Amino acid sequence: MSKFNWFNSLRYRLTFFFGGISLIFCLGFTSYLSSITSDKLLNAYANQLTMIGRSIETTISNNIDERAREISLLSKRALFSGASANYPQIRQNLDNIKASYEYYSWLGFADINGVVQYAADGTLEGHDVSKRPWFINGKTGVFIGDVHDAVLLAKVLNIDKNDPLRLIDFAAPVFDTNNNLLGVVATHSNWKWVNTVIESALARSQQQTGIDVQIVSRDDGILYPQASADQHLPQDLLPKDNSSQLIQWPDGHEYLTGVTTLKSTLMDQLGWRIVVRIPKNIALQEITELQRQLLWVSVIAVLLCLWFVYRMSISMSLPLERLITVTREIQAGKEQVKFPKSNGLIEISFLIDAIQKMTFSLLSHEKSLMEMNQTLENKVLERTKELESANQELERLSRRDPLTDLHNRRSAAEHIDSEFTRLKRFGLAYSILMVDIDHFKKINDTYGHETGDIVLVEVAKLLAQSVRKADLVARYGGEEFLIILTGTDSGDALTLAEKIRASINTTEFSVVKNVTASIGLSTVEQADETAYEVVRRADTALYLAKTTGRNKVCT
Ligand code: GH3
Ligand code: MG
Ligand code: MG
Repeated sequence: MSKFNWFNSLRYRLTFFFGGISLIFCLGFTSYLSSITSDKLLNAYANQLTMIGRSIETTISNNIDERAREISLLSKRALFSGASANYPQIRQNLDNIKASYEYYSWLGFADINGVVQYAADGTLEGHDVSKRPWFINGKTGVFIGDVHDAVLLAKVLNIDKNDPLRLIDFAAPVFDTNNNLLGVVATHSNWKWVNTVIESALARSQQQTGIDVQIVSRDDGILYPQASADQHLPQDLLPKDNSSQLIQWPDGHEYLTGVTTLKSTLMDQLGWRIVVRIPKNIALQEITELQRQLLWVSVIAVLLCLWFVYRMSISMSLPLERLITVTREIQAGKEQVKFPKSNGLIEISFLIDAIQKMTFSLLSHEKSLMEMNQTLENKVLERTKELESANQELERLSRRDPLTDLHNRRSAAEHIDSEFTRLKRFGLAYSILMVDIDHFKKINDTYGHETGDIVLVEVAKLLAQSVRKADLVARYGGEEFLIILTGTDSGDALTLAEKIRASINTTEFSVVKNVTASIGLSTVEQADETAYEVVRRADTALYLAKTTGRNKVCT
């Protein structure tokens, strides 16, 4: 059986598989949702930036147009023509105009040589402005200059160095009635008014945090804010057309940047652009929050999914795991096992049912086999016992004489051999008696063979009763008996032999009445080389007894 590895189990495989799918699905869904929402949000911001840009652009271009128109109108008034030139009246007029617009820093008229003749408050009167761009350009038509630091005015007007005066120039040529150029009338408008415009535009927008505005000149010089004045943006940083894009700025951050080109009805050569931007991370702040929330929802969804899948896979695998336990219990020999209930799946129900039936059938087979085995074993045991006792009987019979139930000749021979071995090993002496019934033929002849047999049986009984248990009596031939007297020397043997002879002689036999027997006796000697030497000697002694009168013992 393969080793248990938790990853290979059904429940973990299912959990990881479905959990993985739900994780991928949730992550994919989250990232898809956040990508479309961030696109939508960026678009919404881009629109808002464009709107702010347009609003600022409209206000600034209207204001510039208004200033340009004002200077154009002033140039056309017959104020500065030679005939009616009247210093106090001109001053009064200029003072009034300057006072009408708070951001006018300077208003004046320079003659054809570039010398300031008239100015509001008398500022810079008599100064030579012939080299100033507004004078040079203003001689040919209405001129709007780029924003610049005040050069001459700063000296005259005692300006705070930390808040430098920045001006935008408007100039227009002045002609007399014969259309001869008299000079140039100009105003220097304080650039600070643009702060007011931008602040009010931003105040109108819904989103104020993070949005900042820059005004950039044609050559990418920063005109606003004041703090960054005279700095230049890198070339090609801003998109050419009026649009909003995500742009990496020199500070390293990404900004959603909207650009609107300034359009003046009087002057289209200014080439200013209103740049409205917002850092990407601020613009996408809501998206980040949304993504965080989506992520949480996803995590919870995935966890729920995992939990659900885990429960489901447990319900699938539990009956199988229980089934494994049950089969192991059966394997271990447990008899009372409880099969698991199905989880309702038809395949698992069938499997449990099939295994249950198979197990019961196998168990009942095994039981009947075991019973059969037991019966067989019992039978074998019984037969073995019978065989053993038969063998024992056979063994006994093989050593017995059937008529007298005494040991037979073969058994006597074995006994003689073992006695001889004991003699040689331990020096234990023994004696042999050969007993032969006298004139037995005559008994047979006179009373019949059957009576002869009875005599034989009676003599045998008598002999067996005459010796000790350790001694052995055997029927050696027809009417000839052999007695082995264990541990008996010749003297004792002779006494016993005589006692046996006398006992036969005096016993009254059933039919024959009187029977005698002759006995040959011999005791074993250490010098004997074979076990049969002593038997031969006993035989010789018997022969002697027969030939010398019978019914006697000879040694
Ligand atoms: P002796 O005194 O010299 O021993 O003479 P005997 O007649 O006893 O000896 P013999 O050897 O001449 O005769 C033995 C007889 O014993 C011969 C035989 O028929 C008889 N005999 C041998 N075995 C049996 C037997 O089992 N039953 C009977 N009834 N007679 C037997
Ligand atoms: Mg004989
Ligand atoms: Mg005899």
